[in-house]
Amino acid sequence: MLRIEAQPWTEMVKHARATYPDECVGVMLGTSGNGTKSVVSALPMENVNPGPKRQRYQLDSKDLLAADAEARRRGLELIGIYHSHPDCDAYFSKTDLENSCPWYSFVVLSVRNGEFDHANSWLPDAEQTKAEKEDLVIV
Ligand SMILES: [Zn+2]
Repeated sequence: MLRIEAQPWTEMVKHARATYPDECVGVMLGTSGNGTKSVVSALPMENVNPGPKRQRYQLDSKDLLAADAEARRRGLELIGIYHSHPDCDAYFSKTDLENSCPWYSFVVLSVRNGEFDHANSWLPDAEQTKAEKEDLVIV
């Protein structure tokens, strides 16, 4: 199960709306244990995809390293990555699978006409062939 606290959740929704109609991307920091991951902080990042950003996101590896360092500094873990799907459902696409890592939760936020619609969390497998839906709780 993935729990996201109100403050990081508000940040994520705000970010997804602000980048519309492009995809946003960011990372989630928090803690894990007993089968539950808790997100206490969201770090918005820049979508550096060189092509159109409406259907694809790319993280800058430098940003990801910086997020990892910040997590360690704060005694937190890098729980996962979030991105938005402008005018699209919060499913896990083939591209998302190809760019996934099995040890992260992937939260997808659906944004329709600039407004948040719904979200899902996904757990991709190690072979990058499928992703299972994870229980998502907004606190
Ligand atoms: Zn996607």
